[in-house]
Amino acid sequence: MALIVQKYGGTSVGSPERIKNVAKRVARWKAQGHDVVVVVSAMSGETNRLIALAREIQAHPDPRELDVMVSTGEQVTIALLSMALIELGLKARSYTGGQVRILTDNAYTKARIVSIDEDRMRADLKANCVVVVAGFQGVDETGNITTLGRGGSDTTGVALAAALKADECQIYTDVDGVYTTDPRIVPEARRLNTITFEEMLEMASLGSKVLQIRSVEFAGKYKVRLRVLSSFEDEGEGTLITFEEDKDMEKAVISGIAFNRDEAKITVLGVPDRPGIAYQILGPVGDANIDVDMIVQNVGHDGLTDFSFTVHRNDYQKALKVLKPVLEHTKARGIQSGDKIAKVSVVGVGMRSHAGIASTMFRTLAEEGINIEMISTSEIKISVVIDEKYTELAVRVLHKAFALDQPA
Ligand code: ASP
Ligand code: MG
Repeated sequence: MALIVQKYGGTSVGSPERIKNVAKRVARWKAQGHDVVVVVSAMSGETNRLIALAREIQAHPDPRELDVMVSTGEQVTIALLSMALIELGLKARSYTGGQVRILTDNAYTKARIVSIDEDRMRADLKANCVVVVAGFQGVDETGNITTLGRGGSDTTGVALAAALKADECQIYTDVDGVYTTDPRIVPEARRLNTITFEEMLEMASLGSKVLQIRSVEFAGKYKVRLRVLSSFEDEGEGTLITFEEDKDMEKAVISGIAFNRDEAKITVLGVPDRPGIAYQILGPVGDANIDVDMIVQNVGHDGLTDFSFTVHRNDYQKALKVLKPVLEHTKARGIQSGDKIAKVSVVGVGMRSHAGIASTMFRTLAEEGINIEMISTSEIKISVVIDEKYTELAVRVLHKAFALDQPA
């Protein structure tokens, strides 16, 4: 007998029929003697609908009031799922985040979980009851409703699993696991049986939107055994996110190809090559609350150098504006920038012990005539910035070059 936390996403609870199917699945786990805590998202489209509604009143909705409103999406699905479970003859009770007491800080719309009170859930489980908890929400110290950011129900699931020391946290979604890359681009993409937590973190941060990245960080910190699976299939093991690299399980050096079309690139040309110049450029960018991703500085020539970095596309115009005065006082020659770029990355813990990954990657891109504009690496990842129009081609040829279409 195990304690399982299951999280169902918006499409999985998108209609009464689907909610009934979720209830049946939960009933099967109960019938096997397990204790089950279920976390649900709002019905698909509901959170977007609520946000749009708020914007009809206020272009920039008051954050406290926005959280009061968007948290209702999940309040509907917890009740519906509990009803469906009761209808099947099970005992079930639903709770909002505030009722469980998922205590968060007071950063509305992007709150962080501080603590979770498990007593009530434990008592219900002891009474053979399925506990159904609203994802995405909590309360701050004074009882204000908060939400955890888009996709935050994943984090609720993992956080409850951590608090309850659950045996497994199962994230049910509309895909049956984590893939070597996006199957819409590469039909030969394969589902991974396992992926390490570090790789998953890279894949999530690089644009594979299976899990909210914060939930992966949370799972890593609290060593939660996390599994991604489909709510539309009865069979299938999904993808298990592991902590140790289990070399026998999957021998591939590279686990996946991630890509991201959310960035823009800025190059400050001909800045004086002297101490403090990186700070003079990136200081004001940071002060404006703009996150910088890749950074490249060229080798200087004749006392001058070029300095490039990438930012999120949403911050692109703002970053250019911030840099205007910087250009003047550093006497830089100018700015070259563009937002028609993509970042493509190969990810794999096997990279640590294998040489030649970078050269395979660069050769493969060169053979297709794809120019690399920037490169960055970590221990388990190599990322390149390329022209956006070659994204799909690059992903396809890299997937093939690293034989990701072959079973490991
Ligand atoms: N309903 C919220 C959203 O759409 C939270 C979630 O689904 O994880 O972002
Ligand atoms: Mg989601």
